[in-house]
Amino acid sequence: MVSAKPVLTGFQPADLETLLAEWGEPKFRARQILEWVYRKRCRDFEEMTNLGRPLRERLASHFDLRALALARHQGSADTTRKLLFRLRDGRFVESVVIPANPALYGGRADRRTICVSSQVGCAYDCKFCASGLAGFTRNLTPDEIVGQVLEAESLDAERIDNIVFMGMGEPLANLRNLLSAIQILNAEWGVGIGARHMTISTSGLAPQIERLAEQPLQVRLAISLHGATDEVRDRIMPVNRKYPLARLFDALRHYQEIKKQKVTFEYILIEDVNDALDQASILANRARSLNAKVNLIPYNNVEGLPWKRPSEERQEQFLKLLRAAGVQATLRREKGHDIDAACGQLRLKEERGGLIAEAV
Ligand code: SAH
Repeated sequence: MVSAKPVLTGFQPADLETLLAEWGEPKFRARQILEWVYRKRCRDFEEMTNLGRPLRERLASHFDLRALALARHQGSADTTRKLLFRLRDGRFVESVVIPANPALYGGRADRRTICVSSQVGCAYDCKFCASGLAGFTRNLTPDEIVGQVLEAESLDAERIDNIVFMGMGEPLANLRNLLSAIQILNAEWGVGIGARHMTISTSGLAPQIERLAEQPLQVRLAISLHGATDEVRDRIMPVNRKYPLARLFDALRHYQEIKKQKVTFEYILIEDVNDALDQASILANRARSLNAKVNLIPYNNVEGLPWKRPSEERQEQFLKLLRAAGVQATLRREKGHDIDAACGQLRLKEERGGLIAEAV
């Protein structure tokens, strides 16, 4: 059954103030209520003890507090953990929580990161990706995007410090809802996560990158490049036919001019597709032209797809070439992250009926 009630995890103070005024409630109640929702992670209107009972009951009859429910999870609080959520219309999305790991950073405190989905499925049809296999269903609403963070925090009773929009979907194809969610996640009255601790990842939607540049928030931008030439990108990412590299790079230059911020290129290494060493020098030139960082990610094999990750030796050679060309580059080596980029696979199985949801 789909509940028709709006969910409070998508509300900003102004929206609620209007409604409360109609109910004859003072304006400050809006912030009081949202403090329960975003800061105190309240799951039940009865816990809102600074509101009178009649108002709590009225709120409960008009609103829900949760846009999604945890259906399954894999991993534990101290490993990379994958969460599968059921939305109110019965669809599924995934988030991945990557724990703080000071050991990786020479003893300095690391951050707890969540990888959040922005759509159910994806329309962009990247050939190597599991998310697109079942096609596109719909955009997530702001309450569903924000809800993933709140639910993940309450699962481990631990704060999330860092958000990457690298889960299922193309975030820039859902820009309005994404920006609204980011406002809530960032605001003082909201979840309170710094904009610089949020990264939007895109397959390369040039016009939306330009629109993002006009937004005041200093969120970070990552580009799923995966190919340094149009030839390679055309083969694995259909979006490149619409916005080829020249168009994409125009948008990125514009973005950097306005934001004064470095972008990051993600580059999945796929055997015999984009891992030839001549590609590394073309990639290096492209990265240098924007002073961009490069994150190399060994491909995660996906059931039913033919692509494979190259040998470790080839991965290291590719990295070495980028660095020798003066590019700031990293290679993801930790095994614990394997689960991460396989986003989309849990949902696929669930919707095909291959898994029985466990109540958690
Ligand atoms: N649509 C957005 C965000 C979602 S994908 C984008 O394209 O950036 C998040 C990242 O995971 C992208 O860089 C995507 O290319 C990568 N990815 C998808 N499938 C993968 C796989 N099997 N192995 C490694 N990375 C993968």
